[in-house]
Amino acid sequence: MAKYVYFFGGGKAEGKSEMKNLLGGKGANLAEMANLGLPVPPGFTITTEVCTLYYRNKGKYPAELKKQVEDNLKKTERIMEKKFGDPKDPLLVSVRSGARASMPGMMETILNVGLAPSTIPGLIAKTNNPRFVYDAYRRLIMMYSDVVMEKAAGIEPAGEQGIRKQLEAIMHQMKEKKGVKLDTELTADDLKELAAQFKARVLKVLGKPFPDEPMDQLWGSVSAVFQSWNGRRAVEYRRIERIPDEWGTAVTVQTMVFGNTGETSATGVGFTRDPATGRNIFYGEWLPNAQGEDVVAGIRTPLPVNEAGKTAHTKGLTSLEKAMPAAYKQLNAIQQKLEKHYRDMLDIEFTIEEGRLFMLQCRVGKRNGVAAVKIAVDMGLEKLIKPEEAVLRVKADALVQCLLPMVDPKAERESKPLAKGLPAGPGGAHGMVVFTADEAARRGKELHEKVILVRTETSPEDVHGMHAAQAILTAKGGMTSHAALVARGWGKCCIVGCSGIAVDMDRKVLKAGGKEIAEGAWITLNGTSGTVYEGKLPLVDPDLRNNKDFRQFMKWVDSFRKLGVRTNADTPQDARKALEFGAEGIGLFRTEHMFYGEGADRPLFLLRKMIASSTLEERRKALDELYPFMKADMKATMEAMQGHPVTIRTLDPPLHEFVPKDTARLEELARALNISMEELQKRAEGLHETNPMMGHRGVRLGVTYPEVTEYQVRAILEAAAEVALDKKVKNVLPEIMIPVTCAKSELDDQKKIIDRVVEEVKAKYKLKKLDYLIGTMIELPRAALTADKMAETAEFFSFGTNDLTQMTFGFSRDDIGSFVPEYLKKKLLPEDPFQSLDQEGVGQLIRMGIDRGRSTRAKLKVGICGEHGGDYESVKFCHRVGMNYVSCSPFRVPIARLAAAHAALEEKKSK
Ligand code: PEP
Ligand code: MG
Repeated sequence: MAKYVYFFGGGKAEGKSEMKNLLGGKGANLAEMANLGLPVPPGFTITTEVCTLYYRNKGKYPAELKKQVEDNLKKTERIMEKKFGDPKDPLLVSVRSGARASMPGMMETILNVGLAPSTIPGLIAKTNNPRFVYDAYRRLIMMYSDVVMEKAAGIEPAGEQGIRKQLEAIMHQMKEKKGVKLDTELTADDLKELAAQFKARVLKVLGKPFPDEPMDQLWGSVSAVFQSWNGRRAVEYRRIERIPDEWGTAVTVQTMVFGNTGETSATGVGFTRDPATGRNIFYGEWLPNAQGEDVVAGIRTPLPVNEAGKTAHTKGLTSLEKAMPAAYKQLNAIQQKLEKHYRDMLDIEFTIEEGRLFMLQCRVGKRNGVAAVKIAVDMGLEKLIKPEEAVLRVKADALVQCLLPMVDPKAERESKPLAKGLPAGPGGAHGMVVFTADEAARRGKELHEKVILVRTETSPEDVHGMHAAQAILTAKGGMTSHAALVARGWGKCCIVGCSGIAVDMDRKVLKAGGKEIAEGAWITLNGTSGTVYEGKLPLVDPDLRNNKDFRQFMKWVDSFRKLGVRTNADTPQDARKALEFGAEGIGLFRTEHMFYGEGADRPLFLLRKMIASSTLEERRKALDELYPFMKADMKATMEAMQGHPVTIRTLDPPLHEFVPKDTARLEELARALNISMEELQKRAEGLHETNPMMGHRGVRLGVTYPEVTEYQVRAILEAAAEVALDKKVKNVLPEIMIPVTCAKSELDDQKKIIDRVVEEVKAKYKLKKLDYLIGTMIELPRAALTADKMAETAEFFSFGTNDLTQMTFGFSRDDIGSFVPEYLKKKLLPEDPFQSLDQEGVGQLIRMGIDRGRSTRAKLKVGICGEHGGDYESVKFCHRVGMNYVSCSPFRVPIARLAAAHAALEEKKSK
């Protein structure tokens, strides 16, 4: 018989942490903790398989499930010596979701299941605490009506009209009537009355009575958790996180323990290390006399769990360490034991019932990128994990976060903070204030504006807006509130619990520091310190040179990778930046880029003059003038690269793009060429092409205008000769690369020119030898197909996968915007092939190109310089097909290094 239910409790469990696919993260880890002998309230987990069957069979469970649930409930009852639904001494349970991957707050939980008029008197007699019992009951009604009777039933009331909001409003009225502020100040009678009012409202709004039969509550809750897998916010979260729909959720039914029975009870959450900074301290938050949802929902601002975790904001608050020293000591020992056992930073949930500690959850904790690197490095140095593991633990996204901009410290010093909150997500961000998730999504995603989502607190319904915003700011909530967890998972700048701000939703203003900030006004957040500023403060790149953890981490990364990492750089500044990021050379210097940007006016003018020339003589004249600029540019870049190889590509410009559009510039050009405007117009029209991507570009220019190649090669080689003679830089090695080739004959044609110029340069500088290589881009399918021939002339290949993707798919790289998004939506393509390499198709041409090339020249050096050279998955592919290096933009260099190390370590593991 198929096993659908797994038991845990009484010091052992049927499951274990490796069974996450079947039991979900929560179920598997509860089983693991039970097996470790930790105080876990007993219960059982219904598998994810049941979720899949439930959906497949249109909401019907497998026949065996009922009996298996009943048997496991009995086992739980035996350990607890209580019975579910027993009028005298009732067992209460929680019903929780748990998918393979953590989806914080996206699915449902129902607490206190089993509390009903039939069991309430018994529980009151047993606990002698009517206040607690009615508080638990009103919570059950709230959660159940919201989750089971409304959401799972597919009812979607507008904004504030949901049943939970309505019940919260009733509770608020009750507090006003009684003249109290806190939930905890309501008496047993108040809560009893409240429960009655809740039930009446539920009946009126939802048209059904709240079920007062414990077994009905249990099955209703189980179904609702399964339903919540396909709830709107869970689906949205899965889409963003790319969690497959088929995984399904498990349901865990567990004995309730109560943190809300009075002042000797408490509940809390913690991390075995600080998830915002990675610092090795037990970091957590707690609340006395509360249930778990109170901490996570951010309704009451929680207290620090210990003294070590106190900050400037929390230093006046009471820690659990001081309030309940014995329970804290036990908790601290457990968190240490768990971290050693799991060998990773964990996120734990606990409850203290009348002084007795229970563990309710543990899982590998979400952390931001900066913390991920620090924790991996620290654990590596502590010898808790091996350096290999440390390297594998840090994902590309996490590393990207370390490279994120921060608020310019100088500007910060000169600005007065508007407010301070908890630093939940590091880095800096600036953007325009918006107050709703929909507005954030509209302006952020559709209009591509920079916005910051400001809320009193975020709820999981805000996920789409949080994703579209540059950063998130909330007035309430702690470091474990939803906003903090979600933002941290994405590495987004986030400040929570910023009590100095108030959000006026009616007037759409943010009040802070005696000021009113309207929607659309700019603010700046420093998520590392938790500071909010008015206006748009500049952002700057982080100081990686002084980041010890980052440096140690990258040292390990480099010790494992085999693939070289170069950069695509066209200016000495880019080259220096890339060196700082660890680049080992330039893989692509796009000559034409010297004609863009600041200070490029003169060379651009001369280039235009050359393009608009109609005779060899005119062209040579223009090239003569252009020559010093070209040489100076190459020289500066070679010097900046300090002896690392520099691959310089000969001109590959889209000619028509360089023809000026405005009359003044056209006139200037006509004057310089000494021709009429009509004549210039004619020449410009002559440059027009129907399909410029397949037109007069790349090597074709060099073939038709050999003098263009000649001048460029001379500039490269003279620059190299002068740099070498200056002796400031050793091992100068220019690699001359010919673009857009499709035949060996084209290469041979260009090589003749190069050979001639080499001799001339040697003679001019009286050199015996001059080091250089001649290679080609492989960016047309024909070049890949005839790579064996190409390699007879080419000493190296560099795959230009931008063009190779374009030419293989037949998708114009400049025009995909009109159809590729639809392809992605319809899942006709797994990914934009211009971002992540199409390994199935384009990948075959690459493999073939390498194999055929090396069949001619065994030691052929092979790299890639298309945008894919900085894409994590594509870099791993480049390792697997045996390339020598990848080349990418400076900012992606660390990511490429990490991907290369991951690929090498994965290969080692698979052997
Ligand atoms: C390429 O085609 O991949 C390439 C690197 O060249 P460009 O993007 O300059 O066409
Ligand atoms: Mg190209």
